[in-house]
Amino acid sequence: MKLKIAIQKSGRLSEKSLDILKECGIKVSNSDRKLKTEAQNFPMEILFLRDDDIPQYVEQGVADIGILGENEVLERNKDVAIVERLGFGNCRMSLAIPKDDVYKNVSYFQGKKVATSYPKILRKFFIEKNINASIEEIGGSVEIATSIGLADGIFDIVSTGSTLLMNGLKEIETVLRSEAVLISNKNLSESKSAVLDKLLFRIKAFKNGARSKYIVLNAPNESLAEISKLIPGMRSPTVLPLSNSGWSSVHSVIEEDDFWNVIDALKGLGCEGILVMPIEKMIL
Ligand code: ATP
Ligand code: ZN
Repeated sequence: MKLKIAIQKSGRLSEKSLDILKECGIKVSNSDRKLKTEAQNFPMEILFLRDDDIPQYVEQGVADIGILGENEVLERNKDVAIVERLGFGNCRMSLAIPKDDVYKNVSYFQGKKVATSYPKILRKFFIEKNINASIEEIGGSVEIATSIGLADGIFDIVSTGSTLLMNGLKEIETVLRSEAVLISNKNLSESKSAVLDKLLFRIKAFKNGARSKYIVLNAPNESLAEISKLIPGMRSPTVLPLSNSGWSSVHSVIEEDDFWNVIDALKGLGCEGILVMPIEKMIL
């Protein structure tokens, strides 16, 4: 049974969505940018859609799964399951106001008008904060809404904040942090669930690999016990004797997050010739 996946046709998430399928060993030829295509070596059909439509199609089962921004999933508010966070397409959704306005807290918005393309997310936020503000829904170019007198503030996606600055705005509240997610229809058949599990297994292997590095170093034997504690790897490091007596070669896996601290500590233990290499896939 083919699993139908919906991805963004053209936009910020299109290429990365195809990349993640590629990383999972799934071959997709979409050179002619059709509406749909089949994977060559995996039971999958790929539908290219506008991201706004993906939640609805997945809810209805027109597509079984989909890749899109979590912000869009929340805004569409359809009955779908988020099954995996994908680690790309990161952005935040924030409130911004004219840069010279004084802002103390969210009560600033009491009785004010805010323009956005994401009214549902914003309404939920204002309800949680007990703010009575009116929401002006517009389709795009939200950042100009205050300068043309349409609204007192805006709520929009921010990545660096430079667009806000250019429009005389300042970011004052982050309401949501978003990244690309994999969503699924809630009533997949058994055979489709099995294909989804296979895909998830591969995505996790790729994500773990991207987060970790393979490390090889030369260590004085007297430090081996402490080094093993620092870089335990998946089960324990591999330790091989060097032909130089008193020294060993240690192989292990290290997490990206505390990378430099661990390297500093290893140097402190007398380690030399430290090599760090990318890991393509990691099966735990
Ligand atoms: P479509 O034509 O498919 O409707 P779109 O114009 O709605 O596309 P894009 O601008 O391609 O959407 O953005 C898709 C998603 O990328 C956003 O919903 C968000 O999750 C994510 N994203 C990441 N960084 C940014 C950013 N700086 N600006 C906008 N979206 C971003
Ligand atoms: Zn869209």
